[in-house]
Amino acid sequence: MNSQEPLIDSHGRRIDYLRVSLTDLCNFRCVYCMPAEGIPFLSPSKYLTRSEIVRFVRLIGQLGVTRVRLTGGEPLLRRDILDIIHALKEIETVRDLSITTNASRLGPLVEPLKEAGLDRINISLDSMEPERFKAVTLSDTFHQVLEAVFLALQAGFPVKLNMVVLKGLTRQEIVQFVRLARDYPLEVRFLEFMPLCGTGWRPDLVLPIQDVRSIVFENFELEELLRNGNVAQSFAVRGGKGSVGFIASLTESFCDSCSRIRLTADGKIRPCLFSEKEVSIKELLRNNAPDEEIIRTIRHAAAIKPKGNWFNEKPFRSDEDYDSIFASNPMIRTLGG
Ligand code: SAM
Ligand code: SF4
Repeated sequence: MNSQEPLIDSHGRRIDYLRVSLTDLCNFRCVYCMPAEGIPFLSPSKYLTRSEIVRFVRLIGQLGVTRVRLTGGEPLLRRDILDIIHALKEIETVRDLSITTNASRLGPLVEPLKEAGLDRINISLDSMEPERFKAVTLSDTFHQVLEAVFLALQAGFPVKLNMVVLKGLTRQEIVQFVRLARDYPLEVRFLEFMPLCGTGWRPDLVLPIQDVRSIVFENFELEELLRNGNVAQSFAVRGGKGSVGFIASLTESFCDSCSRIRLTADGKIRPCLFSEKEVSIKELLRNNAPDEEIIRTIRHAAAIKPKGNWFNEKPFRSDEDYDSIFASNPMIRTLGG
């Protein structure tokens, strides 16, 4: 392995975690992510190919990026997903390879994913009630998703469930989720709704994580777990098998310890999800540019990573704050782009 100086941004943060969006396509239309009519999806020729992705991960791996998460859009819609995983696992620097999926197609893929070498799975599950699940995701696949959660556990995958907390979430449902973490060896993570939505910003849907945390603490005994560079504040459910995490992206920003960089499905390096700054790498990969040139471009992208996001500068207070922040930051897009 040809290892180089580690990737450190202009604010002294070490970057060791890459999120790769494999596609912008999705078969769900979650209210916080994509409008019901979809977004102008990329044409297939715009996606990075498997070998381009693999080369990028190999090169960024030489700079100390050892954790890789595959995401989207819905990453399991990529037909070559198993080949991608297999090829990424052959890269010596990839110590942890995970995926975030809506799990609607996960069931039959659990075993092949395990065989291909995937290490961990995060599953998005926004409700334990089929009707509310459908209202949030516009998908009828609640039962397939829940079944896939159990299949993934049976196959021995470490599983985290991501649930985006939205106004309307009931005390009863929060308790149902924590019971799941008590009864099964998985982590339920409550994610604060972030101002990142192809549907337009919906401050009316925001439920601060603090409200959820209070309900969880009123109903369960929890023991704090060490953070270990994790963005979630995590707690073991006392006497149970799993844990609960709270990710307060909006109200309790963790920019100071951010170690992430992103690669979009169409080959742009995005150093921060909440910034418009991005650097295209697709042409270099497609034209088979020398390794040094690609590494230089990766370093440049890390160097322009902003210190913090815009809502960090003006923290959450009221719906009016959201409106004014949003008016001056018209950056409405999905996570997949
Ligand atoms: N389609 C896959 C899925 O839903 O798991 C992967 C992509 S999705 C964009 C990645 C994660 O981002 C999901 O857990 C989803 O719930 C979360 N997410 C999407 N939009 C969000 C928003 N506006 N606020 C908070 N989390 C969001
Ligand atoms: Fe699709 Fe994931 Fe966005 Fe939901 S959150 S619409 S599943 S990409």
